[in-house]
Amino acid sequence: MNSMTSITPLRYSVLLLVASLTGCASITPRTAGIQPGKARETLQAGNERFLAGGMHAHSWHQERVIQTGAFGQSPSVGVLTCADSRTPPEIIFDEGIGDLFVVRTAGNHEDAGGTGTFEYGVAALGVHTILVLGHTKCGAVDATIEGNPLPGSMPTFTDAIRPALAGLASPIELTAASEANVRYQMKRLLEQSEILRTANRDGKLTMLGGMYDVSTGRVRFLD
Ligand SMILES: [Zn+2]
Repeated sequence: MNSMTSITPLRYSVLLLVASLTGCASITPRTAGIQPGKARETLQAGNERFLAGGMHAHSWHQERVIQTGAFGQSPSVGVLTCADSRTPPEIIFDEGIGDLFVVRTAGNHEDAGGTGTFEYGVAALGVHTILVLGHTKCGAVDATIEGNPLPGSMPTFTDAIRPALAGLASPIELTAASEANVRYQMKRLLEQSEILRTANRDGKLTMLGGMYDVSTGRVRFLD
């Protein structure tokens, strides 16, 4: 993580020269990212591009690396999602380097490290939206439903997910449990953080929830 970095005209000229030599001809300061109040529709549109195979290849080009390296990061949207290797947020939303501020834990559960990370994103980097993204076939949620003893530090995530399952009809269905877990972790983030709660209350932070289908690649936003 880095704060915004100032850039001198000389340094910018050098960057332009490097860019021209490396084929990146149009280096400009990063323009505003995802606009406040537009996160849901912007991410939805990115997911549609991902589904259609028409992703913005420029998001990953060296030009973007040079831009964000020179001008600093200003991510707009924080994402709390699962560590599951099938749910990489930048790919499934067709966002690029410098766009998303991501925390990943098993079962996308809230913990102190993640919450502090989002507090930094909101307070220092301009993050205006946090999306909690669950997914189908989540092993961490499934392990919580099963309830078998787990070794090592793994109970930290089942313990963090278990309260989300309270009140669900038995036998608990995995996708319904994962969706309940998204709603619970959204609530937990605000409960655990005065900074996030205040920003949300003041209209500076929007909370979103969503479910990613690992079989289709489609994200469904929760109401
Ligand atoms: Zn998972």
